[in-house]
Amino acid sequence: MSNHLRPVENLSWDVVVVGAGSAGCAAAIAAARRGRRVLLLEAGNAPGGVSTVGGISEWYAHLDGLGDIFDSVTREMKAYGMSHECDGRYFFNSEYLKLIWQWALEQAGVHCLFHATLSGCEVRAGRVQTVEVISCGQRLSFSAEYFVDCSGEGVLGFLAGAPFMKGDPESGRTLHMSLSCQLIDTGREMTHYLPAGIEPILSSDDLPGLNVAIPMSDGRVYCNMTKIMGEDPTDPQSLSRAESRARIQLAQVVHYLNRTQFPRHALVSSAAKIGIREGRRLLGDYVLTESDITSPSGCDFPDGVAVATCAIDFHSLSEKGHGGRREKVQPYAIPFRCLRVRGFANLLMAGKCISGDQVAHSSYRMTPTCCAMGQAVGTAAALAVENGWDDIRLLPVKDLQAQLTRDGMELDACRHRAFAPEADAPQNSSPA
Ligand SMILES: Cc1cc2nc3c(=O)[nH]c(=O)nc-3n(C[C@H](O)[C@H](O)[C@H](O)COP(=O)(O)OP(=O)(O)OC[C@H]3O[C@@H](n4cnc5c(N)ncnc54)[C@H](O)[C@@H]3O)c2cc1C
Repeated sequence: MSNHLRPVENLSWDVVVVGAGSAGCAAAIAAARRGRRVLLLEAGNAPGGVSTVGGISEWYAHLDGLGDIFDSVTREMKAYGMSHECDGRYFFNSEYLKLIWQWALEQAGVHCLFHATLSGCEVRAGRVQTVEVISCGQRLSFSAEYFVDCSGEGVLGFLAGAPFMKGDPESGRTLHMSLSCQLIDTGREMTHYLPAGIEPILSSDDLPGLNVAIPMSDGRVYCNMTKIMGEDPTDPQSLSRAESRARIQLAQVVHYLNRTQFPRHALVSSAAKIGIREGRRLLGDYVLTESDITSPSGCDFPDGVAVATCAIDFHSLSEKGHGGRREKVQPYAIPFRCLRVRGFANLLMAGKCISGDQVAHSSYRMTPTCCAMGQAVGTAAALAVENGWDDIRLLPVKDLQAQLTRDGMELDACRHRAFAPEADAPQNSSPA
């Protein structure tokens, strides 16, 4: 690495977590509250990832048994007015979630570095040695015993040279991206305007994505209606193109809503970043597959460290609307092997970048599940440091499971309830 690297006050950490989304926050808290020195690196300005900065103000899952970290966040969000349309589908104000995550991170003693974009990493003999970030025009480097990739798109694994999967095995297409937005009632009719050259949407059949425009209890309308297909969220040019295309779609969608359901609502905000459903899926010691999660006998693994409950929600990769596959699955365990990056002794992962095929991913990618996985890997990294194990495969999974159980995680998949939005939700039941 270059000579221009400048260390911050603490060069060396027990655990470095990359990405302060739902998975990364839970991972960092789980490790820090056991007394480990934890650095959380985040490119944006707030924790929460897709659930906050990404503007997605809803969770899918039955919320029990996903660990005490998620429990406490849920409790706080309920106090802030989180509502549910049906058991398993929860709506909230993402601005409060930013605060709740930040407060929980501070209470646990996590050191957060915002505006810190991971840009490099040094690997020796299957161990990540240091990671490098760019922040405020400076390049900083950090070493640690253990590293956790919670970047959503598997950026740390990618930079470390880990193998990964991406998109449909044939077309390479990933699940589409969506730019979400919020509207607010102004109390007066809106003028209908679109800049010259941007075509209006004439009927609901022409909407690009889901028809999700949901009035929230605090007066906002939360919209998740754009659909950008055929772009690659891990390619710089393509991601930029996706943002630009989504901005035009958003204008068309709001124009349509003003002429139909919401004549008095103004656009007040859009997400700080387009919502990426699927990026790289890093290869782990095991790949969770569609046949695992649809197995009629139910899917369990002896090394399960989190449970996923949400249906397969596989949007069409080429048609507008949902156009894809929704299928209820029995709750299933996520094996610890899917959270260990193959070929690396000290690199773990959690959240939507874990090791699974594209169909399994469309189920386990939901936020509550990502949180549970985060708690599992943060606890694992902390236990490994405490015991002086320099390879995560030395950690007896039974010890990890016992600790997670003590920390409120129900690891018996049979004791969870399956959640399928289209079956359980009374209205506006378009999935995520
Ligand atoms: C449009 C959309 C709708 C959805 N709807 C629902 C829903 O209704 N219900 C539900 O439960 N789930 C839903 N999901 C899924 C869910 O929101 C996400 O899959 C989940 O929150 C992912 O969490 P994560 O922590 O793995 O990743 P993210 O939330 O993506 O967090 C990753 C974090 O890493 C940071 N990062 C990335 N690269 C770097 C870097 N180089 N350096 C430093 N930091 C970096 C990012 O800034 C981000 O904060 C939806 C997703 C999308 C995109």
